Amino acid sequence: MSTTLQMELLPEVEAFLAKPIHKAFVGGQEIDSSNGETFETHDPGSGEKLATVSNMQPTDVDKSVEVAADTFENSGWAEMTPNDRGVILHRLADEVEKRQAIIAQIESLDCGKIHSQAVGDIENFFKTIRYFADLALHVQHRSVLPVSGYEAFTVRLPWGPCGFIIPWNFPFLLLGWGLGPSLAAGNTAVIKPAEDTPLSTLYLAHLAQEVGIPDGVINVVTGIGETTGAAVAANPGFKHVSFTGSPEVGREVAEKCGRNLTPCKLELGGKGAAVIFDDIDISETAHKLVEAITFHTGQVCCDATRWFIHRKIYDKFVGECVDRLKGVKIGYQLDDSSQMGPVVNEKQRKRVLGYLERGVAEGAEAILEGGTADIPDLDGHYVKPALLAGPLDNVAAREEIFGPVAYLAPFDSEDQAIKMTNDTDYGLGNSVWTPDMAKAQRVAEQMVAGNSWINGHNLAVHGIPYGGVNKSGMGGGVGSIETLLDYWRGLSIVRPL
Ligand code: NAD
Repeated sequence: MSTTLQMELLPEVEAFLAKPIHKAFVGGQEIDSSNGETFETHDPGSGEKLATVSNMQPTDVDKSVEVAADTFENSGWAEMTPNDRGVILHRLADEVEKRQAIIAQIESLDCGKIHSQAVGDIENFFKTIRYFADLALHVQHRSVLPVSGYEAFTVRLPWGPCGFIIPWNFPFLLLGWGLGPSLAAGNTAVIKPAEDTPLSTLYLAHLAQEVGIPDGVINVVTGIGETTGAAVAANPGFKHVSFTGSPEVGREVAEKCGRNLTPCKLELGGKGAAVIFDDIDISETAHKLVEAITFHTGQVCCDATRWFIHRKIYDKFVGECVDRLKGVKIGYQLDDSSQMGPVVNEKQRKRVLGYLERGVAEGAEAILEGGTADIPDLDGHYVKPALLAGPLDNVAAREEIFGPVAYLAPFDSEDQAIKMTNDTDYGLGNSVWTPDMAKAQRVAEQMVAGNSWINGHNLAVHGIPYGGVNKSGMGGGVGSIETLLDYWRGLSIVRPL
């Protein structure tokens, strides 16, 4: 472990990381892969090896789905009342809250997220579990239908084993967004965490066993996307699959689910816009957008990565942002003074730097150059924030970069700003910035995406649906009552009178 750490690792974290092999967790047991293969995960901030993890093969995935199906049929989990399941899920949430400090360190080390943000992700997890456990108590499970000539009612029933494929940018938070509604509804789960960040998911699986969630309700198959992930997507035993990640892989997952006619939910990437009018407080808005683009080093699907700024304030606003971005302290994720940590791995750093190069080669102006950030004594994957500007057909203006990079352009009218916002294949989260609420709401309603935010960005709140349209998602999104309803199948029961 790096000697440059300012924060001491907790003994529980040291003990967890000391495991020689972090094995998959299926049916309440640690399982090796059938061919004994493993892979390594690394600390993105130091480059050092963090853990050796079992690389589960397609046959191992198939077995885990059988376990989840058998548990669904035979453990009693699916038949429990929402109150009884809720008691256990609250116990899980409480235990995660008690161990927030431990899980936050594991998460921070595994994905390079600065520690304070990891603490926030763990809090989001236990609040998600509580939100859905409570919501399940208040949804009608049986509704009488007033139809003449028939006695009729509908019931809501859990689907069965559900598959989850999760990315590396919010491993634990997104685990909660998937498991929360699915478990509250009475399903069982097989989870494929990203190969860069499997550790917090494995920790959670063990914790779930400790709090009394029946073995086989939560199963974790660690492994590589192209093999383990592909086997999850292709398995016909799942009754529901949820994928969060890139549109490219999402398409492959949806194709595989389509062949099995398995319902599939996709939460994908984005290229969000922030429309900044000339009546804003320049300093405050610059502060919030700089915070948004540097949050988790820009590896956030709904980030504002295109900033459209009213021409009247363009120069002043851009100048303010440049000054603020130059002052962002880049450093190790467990150093409390760091404001921005590394990106997750070398491939991601090359991706960010590659987009900067290609953007400039296609004619963008580098207002703030970005590039590799050197942190003394650490061989991590650090990049500096960057601002590009220029024509909007530029590759850096059109494609998701997934780093601390924003593409800027001026606008002259409300209509023009809306057209610029909607000229994208994506549709996840946009924002409009103005104190004029009539204008804000008018613009917000015309932005084509799952989420329009006013005077804020990256706002995901329990109870508010969060999802994407177009290349950003399919299947309804997460975080609200609609999500819980997705994890039940409907059954109509009818009798002629
Ligand atoms: P990714 O698509 O490369 O990987 C996501 C997951 O899919 C990982 O677990 C990976 O192992 C697995 N995978 C890879 N290849 C696979 C295959 N062929 N078949 C099945 N599974 C496979 O995405 P990433 O790089 O981990 O994450 C970044 C992307 O996720 C970005 O596009 C980001 O915008 C998106 N994202 C979206 C949301 C949302 O809520 N909309 C949230 C977080 C991240």
